[in-house]
Amino acid sequence: MAFDLPSERDQNVLLESGSGERFVLKLANPAERREVLEAECAVMLHLEPTGLTPRLIHTVEGSAIGMHGPQFVRLISVLPGTTYGTARLHTNAVRRDLGRAVGRLGRALTSFDHPAFHRDFYWDLANAERVIGTYLPLVADAALAQRIAAFVAYHRAHVAPMLPDFRRGVIHGDANDYNVLIDEARQSVTGILDFGDMVYSHIVNDVAIAMAYVALSAADPLAAAAAVVAGHHETRPLTEPELQALFSLMCMRLCMSVCVAAKQTAERPGDDYLRISQGPLARTLPILAAIHPRFAHYTFRDACGLPPVPYAPRVTAWLAEQSGRFAPLIGRDLRTTPVAPIDLSAGSALVSSEPSENTPAELDRRIQRRLAERGATVGAGGYDEARLIYAWPSEPTGTEPRTIHIGLDLSLAPGSPLHAPLDGVVHGFENAAAHHDYGPVIVLRHRTEGPDSVEFYSLYGHLSCDSLEGLRVGQPIAKGAVFARVGSAPSNGDWWTHVHVQLVTDLLDVPCNVDGVVRASQRRVWKSLCPDPNLILGIRMEELPHQVPTSAIVAARHAHIGGNVRVSYGANPLNIVRGYKQYLYDDAAHRFIDAYNNVAHVGHCHPRVVRAVGDQLAVLNTNTRYLQEQLTAYAEQLTAMLPASLSVCYFTASGSEANELALRLARARTGARDVIVMDSAYHGHTTTLIDISPYKHAGPDGEGAPDWVHRSPLPDIYRARGAHADPGSWFASRVGEVIADLAAKGRRLSGYIAETCPSVGGQIMLPKGFLADVYARVRAAGGVCIADEVQTGFGRLGTHFWAFEAHDVTPDIVVLGKPIANGYPMGAVITTRAIAESFDNGMEFFSTFGGSTAACVAGRMTLQVTLDEELQRSALLVGERLLSGLKPLMGEFEIVGDVRGSGLFLGVELVRDRHTLEPAPDEATFVVDRMRQRGVLVGTDGPYHNVIKIRGPMPLSLADADQVVDTLTRALRELPGRR
Ligand code: PMP
Repeated sequence: MAFDLPSERDQNVLLESGSGERFVLKLANPAERREVLEAECAVMLHLEPTGLTPRLIHTVEGSAIGMHGPQFVRLISVLPGTTYGTARLHTNAVRRDLGRAVGRLGRALTSFDHPAFHRDFYWDLANAERVIGTYLPLVADAALAQRIAAFVAYHRAHVAPMLPDFRRGVIHGDANDYNVLIDEARQSVTGILDFGDMVYSHIVNDVAIAMAYVALSAADPLAAAAAVVAGHHETRPLTEPELQALFSLMCMRLCMSVCVAAKQTAERPGDDYLRISQGPLARTLPILAAIHPRFAHYTFRDACGLPPVPYAPRVTAWLAEQSGRFAPLIGRDLRTTPVAPIDLSAGSALVSSEPSENTPAELDRRIQRRLAERGATVGAGGYDEARLIYAWPSEPTGTEPRTIHIGLDLSLAPGSPLHAPLDGVVHGFENAAAHHDYGPVIVLRHRTEGPDSVEFYSLYGHLSCDSLEGLRVGQPIAKGAVFARVGSAPSNGDWWTHVHVQLVTDLLDVPCNVDGVVRASQRRVWKSLCPDPNLILGIRMEELPHQVPTSAIVAARHAHIGGNVRVSYGANPLNIVRGYKQYLYDDAAHRFIDAYNNVAHVGHCHPRVVRAVGDQLAVLNTNTRYLQEQLTAYAEQLTAMLPASLSVCYFTASGSEANELALRLARARTGARDVIVMDSAYHGHTTTLIDISPYKHAGPDGEGAPDWVHRSPLPDIYRARGAHADPGSWFASRVGEVIADLAAKGRRLSGYIAETCPSVGGQIMLPKGFLADVYARVRAAGGVCIADEVQTGFGRLGTHFWAFEAHDVTPDIVVLGKPIANGYPMGAVITTRAIAESFDNGMEFFSTFGGSTAACVAGRMTLQVTLDEELQRSALLVGERLLSGLKPLMGEFEIVGDVRGSGLFLGVELVRDRHTLEPAPDEATFVVDRMRQRGVLVGTDGPYHNVIKIRGPMPLSLADADQVVDTLTRALRELPGRR
């Protein structure tokens, strides 16, 4: 078999032998010189030991080059992998590996040379200025042409003068995304192809070219390029001038690509190959143009493990040496003045989750109260702090929000004078008057003393307007002199009263208004650009807020928390610091849609629940041994939502405790012990509940079911694959068989317990008629029917308030938990008067925390909010929206075997084969991980861990539903190996 492969200059044909071996037959461009082809063959032989390049197959005569008419022909082996350009998933892992591969290739090439590669070649990046200069007039898009001219101007001024000293050698010259092969699943490079552009040039060009094409397909081109640099530096260290030049070189390569394509389009209009990368080029060049080349240089240094700003360590070391000699900024020595830590991080209680409650006046009031509590007049904090206040209230745009505050804030009385901590001159000042900007801001320029003296800057924002009066650029400011005063809202940018102090090692050509809040992904670079201002302030460490790093939390978790208390997302766990409504926020103040947690039923930290519980905790929280109106009022309210026969409540502290109690009630009623359970069921973590939970006792390290527990099949209609005309009655008959078997063994049935929608079983919806049939059989055998509604109660299904209502049955005992009190620990058992009377047999029932005053308040308010906000109806609408987005995925993706559920209780089952239904657990985990990367939290479940579970708080909105579907779809598209 033979297929044509796309190529710019040669003609390539893919050949497959009868035995499945694959080769590429390369028919050289007739203009190619034999000498060049020979050189290519020599280099391929030389590089074979790297394992990264194709093998050259010789002709029967033993020659590497054959003839096909007038054309030169070569045959090479096909390497495994997908071209980088066609792969769906590119993470920084594969980019880093590409850097490594290019480095390895480069190292191998140091011992290779060939006269044919000492040539003047138009794709040689060393010729960039000339090639671009020649063809730029052919670029039709004027804005693009202008942008390219700007890149060239920068290159000419800053990079070209360095080039003569750069290391030279033979380079591959074209590690573009279609010449790189990768293993998508492993995110590693399997090969580098095409030796047609080899040339003797600056060796740094190879990595610059790889970076250029990697950047083209990346959402964050700079971070993607930096990953390549990191990998390259591991295998072949880059020199400082090379690191400085890389950004411009990669930009020049992209500009060359635009210009050469313009030339070729002029020559060969209609050639599609030429157009492949032009769209991404037009998208990427403006993004790159917005990055200061020095910022890119610092980012690349950071990727190599070097201090990002090369001279920043000199600045910080000098400032540390000067410690104690600075004039106090506020006129009082901050080392001895009482200072209160002011934490405004994403997880701080000083900040409200409701943006409208964070007005300057409100924040001032809270900060003043904190100062008073601490007996301090000065508050301080904020350096390297992840804050939500900048991201609110705007909706996420898909790009990373700026959340890291890179200055230090001092909360002082308005008008407080500020003294220059050290000698300096006014470098710039302005009134940055846009809302939530700095307001009046001054930048002073300083210089370190001694040899290798360098300049650095200090910035002071949110000043009073009069601070700028009479100031002039270049004006000397002596150490200790008053040069500004603290401003206040609204003229200070409309913030709380404070001065923002920031040190800057490189202003990146910004005269004054330097970013004070930056992206978390660029944190290390920014910390080098803006070192800790406390170096000049001298506040005692214990008087500054202290954020525990995630790594320390992980270490403490290993030390003190049981290993099987699992954390989600494996090696990359989330440190969640705030929840509000249907959203969670991590320690970088990044927002996640919570489509997983059904405990925060009415939304995380719902203000009405928080207030009600808080108020109650401040007054009384005791147990059921006293009369409390809260307990009885809640019982009345809750039973009013249930069928009339279910009239007696018991409250517990958890779902497990409630299920334990339900088993005791059933035994008390029937005098029997045996229970029938459903396969894959989960009812709780206590010893007895593990016994009735096949999910646990039939799982890893499970001991199986004890003799009093009898299992019936999970009525999973998807996996039953239409085998039964009436699955409800078929599965109910299986329960009937268990009952018959029990009777045959002379055992008596106490009860039947089932989750009304099995959740860990894989988000299963029970078949029609099943539950009614089973309940009838169980009751006929003398047992009671227990509905575990821990997952499904309180309107989650949208169609009904309780899931059992969808099956036209009334259980004898209903067990509630999880969402019942919006996260306050609580479970409930509700049963009939008759069963309650059987249980009231002399032994007291007492649960210390069950039914406590605050728990009842939490339960009451959660129920009230569920009703007031019509959350059942909302769950129905949002669930329908989700289903209407998710169901079509079964058509688009083979792997999506089933989409099922109701309301906000949904499952997406992934299978590797639609016929065998082989589960796809690794793929499900991949999808869940990728969704987390894009800000959506879901989970996996089911006996095979292949069902993506979508639940989440009830306030999930239609927009959230769309984002969940979009994110899931994108993750499915990225599944390695999907074709
Ligand atoms: N029943 C079901 C159906 C559950 O899902 C759970 C918890 N996942 C429980 C009972 C146990 O609840 P808890 O963890 O509060 O003890």
